[in-house]
Amino acid sequence: MQVGSQTQKKDLIVSKFGGTSMGDAKCMLRSARVASKQNSFLVVVSAVSGITNKLIEVAKLAQFEAWSKTELALAQIKQIHKTIATDLKINPELEVQLDQLLDELESIAKGIHLLKDCSLKALDTLQGLGERMSSVLFMKAMQSALLESSPDTSQNEPKQVKWLDARQVLRTDDQFGKAKPQTQKIRELASKWLPSKSHGSHIFVTQGFIGSTEEGASTTLGRGGSDYSAAIFAEAVGADILEIWTDVAGIATTDPRLCADARMIPEISFQEASELATFGAKVLHPSTLLPAIRKNIPVLVASSFNPEQKGTWIRAFVSDQPLVRAMAIRKQQVLVTLSTPEMLQAPGFLYKIFKVFNDYGVSIDAITTSEISVSMTLDNSALLNKKLVHELSQFAEVQIEENLCLVSVIGNNINHTPGLAQKIFTAVSDINVRMICLGASKHNFCFLVEEAQGALAIQKLHKVFVQ
Ligand code: ADP
Ligand code: ASP
Ligand code: MG
Repeated sequence: MQVGSQTQKKDLIVSKFGGTSMGDAKCMLRSARVASKQNSFLVVVSAVSGITNKLIEVAKLAQFEAWSKTELALAQIKQIHKTIATDLKINPELEVQLDQLLDELESIAKGIHLLKDCSLKALDTLQGLGERMSSVLFMKAMQSALLESSPDTSQNEPKQVKWLDARQVLRTDDQFGKAKPQTQKIRELASKWLPSKSHGSHIFVTQGFIGSTEEGASTTLGRGGSDYSAAIFAEAVGADILEIWTDVAGIATTDPRLCADARMIPEISFQEASELATFGAKVLHPSTLLPAIRKNIPVLVASSFNPEQKGTWIRAFVSDQPLVRAMAIRKQQVLVTLSTPEMLQAPGFLYKIFKVFNDYGVSIDAITTSEISVSMTLDNSALLNKKLVHELSQFAEVQIEENLCLVSVIGNNINHTPGLAQKIFTAVSDINVRMICLGASKHNFCFLVEEAQGALAIQKLHKVFVQ
């Protein structure tokens, strides 16, 4: 494995495997072999591919439909996990653990059905069951992989695989659905439950995505949050390296699903990768690099399906700093424009507006202003809050445009390079651009287009700047 040449046996490694890397018994075994070869200290796993969506579906069916529909969805979830358990030839203790989790799932679904209500708190416990179940299955895959790598246990002390409930360590606040990790507390808990002195003799398996409050309620970090969990764990245990194992061989110049000519990037800086993640590259959860940057932990993104490929290293400093490195697309954007003549030379107007967004915990992505109006982009889901729109309408006329996406060009020195904007807009000259943001970041130039034209814009830019 090429990766091995850049890591050393003694390195403390946290490895995360995403949903597709946990898709079935074969995927789990392949991922476990990677973790074994990398001599990982802690393995953080996602739910089996597609299970989080199915659990969210269970919550909806249980609330709004006849119980028989929920039963059907529960049976599917059970079957997927039981098939993997059989294929992995799981041992009885793990099977009992899995059955308990399946029972817990049914009980919660029943509760939701009886109450015809699913709070965000209940949904977090329900969603988190995906990771709790997959991690139990992964225990067996890990045990098998270790046995394969050192079959003669009489010679060496066999490495022990230990299952850790992530909620014992990953302490969060109580913002269910998007809980905030409490770094200091997590560090204290990690030193108790994940002592680094056991590196070499133990390999820990835990769940991504989930945490718990001080009171012991289950929380989640938001969709795709397992990457972030792994980074938080890496920071807490003082890891030398964080590995994100996924279904692509690293970070590419754009989403390979959008552009067949996308190329893998061997090395990228923390700043550029953060911009990519924030502006829509699903390969990393947007917050993943925060802990890695805080502790200067290099991050490897690579494919669990082809571990021999080099992958992408994300580091504080990289030698190659091209003007344009990559392109990203952030879908489902809404443009909110607030207009009022009162804004003209009125101190405090923007403060009032931003305070409303702040009070509702809604973050704004891109902003432009004129003398009497301000336009902002938000994620679609945020706008579901009608009260927020009502409050804004107290200050100004509110105009909302939907079905948009933010297209970003990411690289270096972007705001100081003459001619770049011209080159970008020549490339997309036949696409209507609704808003432009340039100047705030030296790593990013982004603009808003209709969602239906987003992929085309990326393909055109990719042709001009990368191919
Ligand atoms: P996992 O389940 O392992 O967390 P995700 O589906 O969340 O995996 O993320 C991997 C996907 O991210 C890839 O399959 C790819 O389609 C998408 N992606 C988006 N932008 C990029 C990019 N620039 N480089 C690589 N993959 C990207
Ligand atoms: N299973 C969770 C999700 O699908 C978290 C993750 O996979 O990162 O969102
Ligand atoms: Mg992901």
